[in-house]
Amino acid sequence: MSAELQAFRDGLRQFVAREIAPHVGAWDEAGTFPRELYVRAAEMGLLGIGYPAELGGLGITPQDARLRLIATEEIARAGSGGLMASLFSHNIALPPLLAQASAELQQRVLPDVLSGAKIAALAITEPSGGSDVARLRTTARLAGSNYIVNGEKVFITSGMRADWLTVAVRTGGPGAGGISLLAIPGDTPGLTRSPLQKMGWWASDTALLHFNGCRVPAANLIGAENSGFRAIMENFNGERLMLAVGANAFAQVCLDEALDWARQRQTFGQPLIQHQVIRHKLMDMRMRVQTTRAWIDALIAQQEAGPTTPEWVADLCLLKNQATQTMQHCADQAVQILGGMGFMRGCKSERIYREVKVMMIGGGAEEIMKELAARQLGQC
Ligand SMILES: Cc1cc2nc3c(=O)[nH]c(=O)nc-3n(C[C@H](O)[C@H](O)[C@H](O)COP(=O)(O)OP(=O)(O)OC[C@H]3O[C@@H](n4cnc5c(N)ncnc54)[C@H](O)[C@@H]3O)c2cc1C
Repeated sequence: MSAELQAFRDGLRQFVAREIAPHVGAWDEAGTFPRELYVRAAEMGLLGIGYPAELGGLGITPQDARLRLIATEEIARAGSGGLMASLFSHNIALPPLLAQASAELQQRVLPDVLSGAKIAALAITEPSGGSDVARLRTTARLAGSNYIVNGEKVFITSGMRADWLTVAVRTGGPGAGGISLLAIPGDTPGLTRSPLQKMGWWASDTALLHFNGCRVPAANLIGAENSGFRAIMENFNGERLMLAVGANAFAQVCLDEALDWARQRQTFGQPLIQHQVIRHKLMDMRMRVQTTRAWIDALIAQQEAGPTTPEWVADLCLLKNQATQTMQHCADQAVQILGGMGFMRGCKSERIYREVKVMMIGGGAEEIMKELAARQLGQC
């Protein structure tokens, strides 16, 4: 790793140890974290990675994927997926704007979000289904210089607090060809939001959104009308790569916590780690984490060499499954090694155990990942 990347990692590690890790337990119990953390994260260079300097980002560099990987891994060390999901929700909301929105719309949205002053969220999923994006029902009808938006979105990360929502809407006929993306301000009259209670990710707000006759300026259309489906699919690639990185990083956190415990805990007159079966569990965890990390590195290297291919997209889908299964295995084994302590709140592995399933479902569920991979490889 270059000295520059290592310095970025070292700085972040101290930031997370000082300003995040001591608080994640309380934030999880409170079901939220302070808004000011977005500003601190922006100051630390966490929010602007991969965004142009003229829009308030750190500038586009060849190292962006590595910087995002480091940012994700270091935030994960605090052991809270909910915090990570909300703090970085802009990374699923803004890329379509960056790729396709008018310069004027980009200037209205990106600088405030990248400085941490405003929060952005992505709203694709609807109560009638999330996997089959092409069938979404929320409508946007052009009336003069506004779209009138009606419909519902569900399970939206940062949905309660978002100042900007990147929303998938139907502007045309049925199917993938009738979908557009709109940037909708959070204070639009007719938009109501309700919080949802969850198995995990407690520090993250997750919302049900109702759009009831919301008037949205036509200038807030992202890209050409009815071209949204492709933008949504391309956006998923970035989300899935970071979900994979995050899942593997949480697996590592579980391994670290279990190893520490196994060294300290005495059973039958000796440290737990002296029992062969425990050592083997730890080595099985390490084997999976290291394998997954190597695959992540390989896919990032291919992306850097660009352009990406259908085979790369297929492998990315399978990598997401591999990483989330690694997280599931390691969370399960860590809780087992920690014994009763692993069941107690305040233990990172306990929280991560509760956060596994959302990683296996969100951003494209396991079954959908396999289907998409097979299609990309031309095998169905
Ligand atoms: C905490 C949380 C945060 C989220 N954040 C966001 C967000 O910020 N923005 C957003 O837009 N969405 C968000 N989501 C939604 C998430 O992306 C969806 O839950 C996911 O895409 C699955 O959609 P669904 O829940 O409607 O399941 P469904 O599409 O109803 O699928 C249910 C199950 O059936 C399986 N399945 C579906 N079709 C097939 C098939 N053809 N063959 C085999 N199996 C199939 C799926 O894999 C899944 O296991 C979030 C979800 C959660 C839980």
